[in-house]
Amino acid sequence: MQKIAVIGAGTMGNGIAHVFAQNGFSVNLIDISETALQKALQTISKNIDRQIAKGTVSEADKTQTQANITTHTALADGVKEASLVVEAATENIALKLKIFQELDQHAHPDAILATNTSSISITKIAAATKRPAKVIGMHFMNPVPVMKLVEIINGYATDKNVTEQIVALSEKLGKVPCVVNDYPGFIANRILMPMINEAIYSLFEGVAGVAEIDTVMKLGMAHPMGPLQLADFIGLDVCLSILNVLHDGFGNPKYAPCPLLVNMVTAGYLGVKSGEGFYQYTPGSKELVVSPLHQNRG
Ligand code: NAD
Repeated sequence: MQKIAVIGAGTMGNGIAHVFAQNGFSVNLIDISETALQKALQTISKNIDRQIAKGTVSEADKTQTQANITTHTALADGVKEASLVVEAATENIALKLKIFQELDQHAHPDAILATNTSSISITKIAAATKRPAKVIGMHFMNPVPVMKLVEIINGYATDKNVTEQIVALSEKLGKVPCVVNDYPGFIANRILMPMINEAIYSLFEGVAGVAEIDTVMKLGMAHPMGPLQLADFIGLDVCLSILNVLHDGFGNPKYAPCPLLVNMVTAGYLGVKSGEGFYQYTPGSKELVVSPLHQNRG
């Protein structure tokens, strides 16, 4: 497996392309937006510079990694020679089903089609193709070059041999693969999102303030980041959409998103990406400042 196609050059797509290219794979990075592709190449360059500053890679590695990546705006051109396609486009079910129908037409019949989805059913995505046995979840964590875990999700019809190939490939990338089955939220988000939701409920009910909730979880449970800061980092819209997937998928009220989270997303307070969520983010500043809208809660 030497030629990889990555669909989507956003937050996750650029990280996935970076890691494959750094491990000697030839990567076709595909996005409908030329601007997104150029931004991805800049981000990859900056992130490799960070690795060079830490002494983990050399200037020569940087040149080789960059040479291993080519960009495309046409899906058909980018995927035709790939033995593996990793889809990391926007989290939208209609979009992913359309992309997988196109991939099925244009990728080699033996190619494995993987998705980096955080919450959409792998079985549903696989059913949009004529090769469901070759469709699998390959859920990298953000930031991809730093985080070790790859959650590998078997769809209902995924072939065992395909899973074994993706496990071996993840190890080749220096990652630690964990194989799970396709149920709402898989494992990572099924466990993480109810914790984040409970933290938001604790704030909503006035049990404690933002800083207190995060401090309890950081110092008491040895979490590197409190759940409210983590929610801001992930994106509050993303958290809400995953909670809705859990709620709809299991039909259990314990997954109902907290009304405060719904209000914040409706008002456009999405966390780091919008500049404010539970905390306020100023470009260039690392100081963690609780949003004035939450200062009187708790
Ligand atoms: P993003 O919004 O940063 O990037 C998505 C990219 O997809 C954009 O550049 C967009 O132009 C591109 N795109 C949209 N339609 C396309 C198409 N038809 N063909 C090619 N490219 C297309 O999103 P992201 O945060 O990188 O998320 C991508 C996927 O990874 C989602 O499925 C998400 O659930 C998953 N994921 C995200 C995170 C995270 O922390 N951001 C973590 C794990 C998994």
